[in-house]
Amino acid sequence: MHNRHSNACAKVTDASCQEHGVWTLSQIKTRRDELIGGQAPFAAILGCSDSRVPVEIVFDQHLGDLFVIRVAGNVVASSQIGSVEFAAELFGTRLVVVLGHSMCGAVLATLEQLERPTESRSPNLRSIVDRIRPSVETLMETELRQNPDALLRHAVRANIRASANHLRVGSQLLEHLIRKDELLVVGAEYSLETGAVEFFEGLPARG
Ligand SMILES: [Zn+2]
Repeated sequence: MHNRHSNACAKVTDASCQEHGVWTLSQIKTRRDELIGGQAPFAAILGCSDSRVPVEIVFDQHLGDLFVIRVAGNVVASSQIGSVEFAAELFGTRLVVVLGHSMCGAVLATLEQLERPTESRSPNLRSIVDRIRPSVETLMETELRQNPDALLRHAVRANIRASANHLRVGSQLLEHLIRKDELLVVGAEYSLETGAVEFFEGLPARG
């Protein structure tokens, strides 16, 4: 995957940029100018803050394409719901993707907190853990508890599902759009190991 945001193309020819699927600086400027009048991002992405999951690079998108909300553990609080409302209402964005990822540190921290509760965690950090906790603590009561790798894999997906569900029912505005088939919320997981994104939750049935 190419990083089209890099300025490496300043040092090579336009032909070379095109050959490598990288935008030239003049293309970036043109797109930037086009967007001054407004934006219409086709998707809103709620992703994790993890530095290894930069959303535009993961999806190979550019200026103006994605409305991105990132927070550790891709958790949903009022500000995340408000951000999705903002994109849906003002920009007509019709697709919302909750993008979690394998080996998520926020989910792992929540599992560790459930395993060995400590009081030392800052209240701000605890607010993230507390939002992940309800979706993963039932997993601790299954045989997965004996298998930390499998437990984390299941917990990541449970947390993605919980965030997607929370967005679906967390606001009258979003609920209304979903009922009218004007908004779709789906869950997906990015693999740190392979770079692949698997959409596994909330996809409409094929027909
Ligand atoms: Zn993460």
